[in-house]
Amino acid sequence: MLYNLGSINIDHVYRVPHLVRPGETLASRDYQRVLGGKGANQSLALARAGGRVAHWGRLGRGDGWALAPLEEAGVALDDVELVDAPSGHALIQVDDNGENAIILYPGANHGFEEDALVARIATAEPGATLLLQNECNGLAAAMAAAKQHGLTLAFNPAPMDEAANRLPLEACDLLFVNRGEAAALAGLAETTPASALLDALAERLPEVELVLTLGAEGVHYRHQETRLRLAAHRVAAMDTTAAGDTFIGVFLATRQAGADIETCLRRASAAAALCVQTPGAAPSIPWAEAVDAALAE
Ligand code: ADP
Repeated sequence: MLYNLGSINIDHVYRVPHLVRPGETLASRDYQRVLGGKGANQSLALARAGGRVAHWGRLGRGDGWALAPLEEAGVALDDVELVDAPSGHALIQVDDNGENAIILYPGANHGFEEDALVARIATAEPGATLLLQNECNGLAAAMAAAKQHGLTLAFNPAPMDEAANRLPLEACDLLFVNRGEAAALAGLAETTPASALLDALAERLPEVELVLTLGAEGVHYRHQETRLRLAAHRVAAMDTTAAGDTFIGVFLATRQAGADIETCLRRASAAAALCVQTPGAAPSIPWAEAVDAALAE
């Protein structure tokens, strides 16, 4: 089993002629309310890829409707609590050029009680993996408890901030980072070549499996002496929302099925390439059949 202690957001997406300016009131041409959050996206990607995943999360009481895609994909939702607090949500403006501006309110995602989290981790299936992103509170306690109970710990420090940089990252078994996150953790400029970013990360975290995703440039993997690189699929990207989340979910589902690391990278890259060709978050996260078809091409 893989447990994902992850954010669940409601994304409010407004189509606007331009991003709203200071003091301006702007009418939106279109409005959609959809499931979002890196945690939920990663659970969805895992389950659609055939993985066994239980999501641990918190959502405002009136927003249970948002869980429908997770339920349909087979994500176990017994540990998603409906609470008397506003759901985590994002107000997203998208202008005519596809540019966006986002206000994110963590809401219920930041209401975890550490004692309850630690107690839940203590009852996790032996040998399970715990997946974390940086959109929920209680991460340091969760990491320590996961380590203590012998769980495999996978972390995606997104969105990156100073607090994530201070977490006990050496407790992680697997770290998923994009270029910006890698640069922040390594204390280097984003323009630093990927191999130098990985060198610096490997020096800081010598025991950790490192997966560095590089958008259209593909992915680098490093664990001790093992180094792999895979180019991205050449596709016409129209919306990269959830590309990283898709990559992570599909990688972990493939690994859960017992595949070797190269197969995990290949499948995750194929899935993420499908994701960037479709608009939105949840609708763009592919099912296993679509990934199989892309790999067979
Ligand atoms: P994030 O979404 O977290 O910023 P990346 O931009 O590194 O992460 O993208 C994650 C993965 O998605 C990449 O490793 C790649 O496999 C795939 N991907 C992203 N952008 C493209 C693209 N333009 N073309 C093909 N694949 C892409």
